[in-house]
Amino acid sequence: MQRPAKPANERERLLALQATRLLDTPPEQAFDDLVSVATTICGTPMGAVTLVDEDRQWFKARQGFESREGPRSESFCSVAILEPRRLMLVEDTHGDARFADHPAVNGGLRVRFYAGVPLLDGEGLPLGTLCVFNDRPGQLSESQADALRALARQAAHLIELRQTTRALNVQIRERDWYEQQLNQYSRMLEEQNADLAEQTRTDPLTGLPNRRAFTVALAAAIERAARLGAPLSVALLDLDHFKTINDVNGHAEGDRVLAETASLLRAHFAAAGMAARYGGEEFAVLMPDTSLDRAQLQCEFLRQGIAALPVGLVVSGSIGVAQWRPGEEPRRTVARADAALYRAKHGGRDRVEVDEAP
Ligand code: GH3
Ligand code: MG
Ligand code: MG
Repeated sequence: MQRPAKPANERERLLALQATRLLDTPPEQAFDDLVSVATTICGTPMGAVTLVDEDRQWFKARQGFESREGPRSESFCSVAILEPRRLMLVEDTHGDARFADHPAVNGGLRVRFYAGVPLLDGEGLPLGTLCVFNDRPGQLSESQADALRALARQAAHLIELRQTTRALNVQIRERDWYEQQLNQYSRMLEEQNADLAEQTRTDPLTGLPNRRAFTVALAAAIERAARLGAPLSVALLDLDHFKTINDVNGHAEGDRVLAETASLLRAHFAAAGMAARYGGEEFAVLMPDTSLDRAQLQCEFLRQGIAALPVGLVVSGSIGVAQWRPGEEPRRTVARADAALYRAKHGGRDRVEVDEAP
């Protein structure tokens, strides 16, 4: 038996067939129905939706016979697709030179009558056929032929629809995936932004709020004090002879003293108020609801705490305190605390001075 000829565009045709992903899938009612209607209209006991694969024909739907596939060389449909735009009709294989000694005629199904219409994909490539056949000779009226063509178009649409649906599902999944990635990315950005915002407010060495954060907190505290008529005090602390500490013990030791001072400040003002790193070895303290007297007392405790820091070095600090005056600009209050600090330095350091100027 010579191998049947193959369509000129066989490669593309096979790719298109693979793309349908229909081969070796379970039976589906919609295709079964088309075969059932085709055989009923054409009056044949057998019919199929056939896909012509590289070396076999495979039946997506079949009626009147059992096998799920057969060799391509024994397939009528592989001949039918050679003329993709035409219905192939063989009224009696015994009287047709093309099929007289065809394996499907002489063995197996003993086909005498065959009518098949190629199933074309969107590009016009023939994937297989919708066919009806019989083990007895037969004929096909014009209207039966028209109906068979119409049903073949339906089958082709069905194949295309399945493919489109699958492509859409893939797109939807992909879009979901992109959306997820995007959400993840924007969450990451938000976190990074929060980190950055935190970084712009925090001093990295001591973990205390920095000068910028202090300025913001001071403005808010003043607004609150003005509203409630509550007292508010501010202190500036500068470590004494810090340059010498650095020079004698090394910069790393200096850093350690700064970190220990920060811990002490945090502990002192954790419950109320706020301590910030104002500059190199200078710290600022915000004491809400605190009058000058009480602020002075608290700063005295703080001064003693610094002198007793367990750092193995002699450390001390000078502190200047000022109470905010109603209507006063924040930086004015800080300037008065700074003036008091200056006096503490000049008075001999390791002491607290308050600004009591009217
Ligand atoms: P005074 O008692 O008058 O305040 O003397 P001082 O030496 O503390 O003041 P001065 O302003 O002359 O020196 C401050 C020193 O603090 C100089 C600078 O190198 C040091 N310093 C500033 N920031 C840091 C820091 O982050 N780490 C360390 N180790 N040293 C710092
Ligand atoms: Mg200083
Ligand atoms: Mg200093």
